[in-house]
Amino acid sequence: MAVRGKVLIVEDDRAICNFMRRVLEANGYEAVLVYTGREANSMLASHCPDIVILDLGLPDMDGMEVLAGLRRWSLMPVVVVSARTDEREKVRALDAGADDYITKPFGTSELLARIRTAIRHTRTTNGNVGIAKDNRFTARGLVIDYDKYRVYIDGRDANLTQNEFKLVALLGRYAGRVLTYDYLIREIWGPNKAYDNQILRVNMANIRRKIEENPAEPKYIFTEVGVGYRMIEGD
Ligand code: CA
Repeated sequence: MAVRGKVLIVEDDRAICNFMRRVLEANGYEAVLVYTGREANSMLASHCPDIVILDLGLPDMDGMEVLAGLRRWSLMPVVVVSARTDEREKVRALDAGADDYITKPFGTSELLARIRTAIRHTRTTNGNVGIAKDNRFTARGLVIDYDKYRVYIDGRDANLTQNEFKLVALLGRYAGRVLTYDYLIREIWGPNKAYDNQILRVNMANIRRKIEENPAEPKYIFTEVGVGYRMIEGD
């Protein structure tokens, strides 16, 4: 089997480390394990992995320090591992340049899906293969046409307002990735509206009414509670 990529696992919990190693190796990845932030820093520089799985609670330093140090010189994908209760940590990590996060405890398929998505993102120029190809994002019945500034659902125009389109367009560009509330608000409304989550919630509710069959059970744009929104991966 061809190696699908080299994964650096930074995690001090040996049981989780070994679980991840088994899963990754069984699926054709090469796994390198380190248990501390210091080891991580030296391995990142010397091994240049394709992706990093980073636990935030390391014995010698905060995983955020490792992330911040890495982002000074590299955009290699980082998936942060955090405990279920640490919503703030997740948001901080995503805003500091993490590509995604997984919450403990997690299963095999979730781990593999997050890794595939994160690696795919860095291997495409525009963040998304389809968009780079014909300026369109397609996922099932949803089409975002970046030339016409239109979103179509099952072939019909969803009639989004300008800001609604901007939100959907941005989520489409980073499909599969969580974009935090603050990030979205800053990008669409500018820095002065930061921390005004209400405006975002209202827009998202309107978007869902227009694009989702059942807004309470979205198929296209998912809520990551306390963190942000994620667009389904493209076809
Ligand atoms: Ca830990």
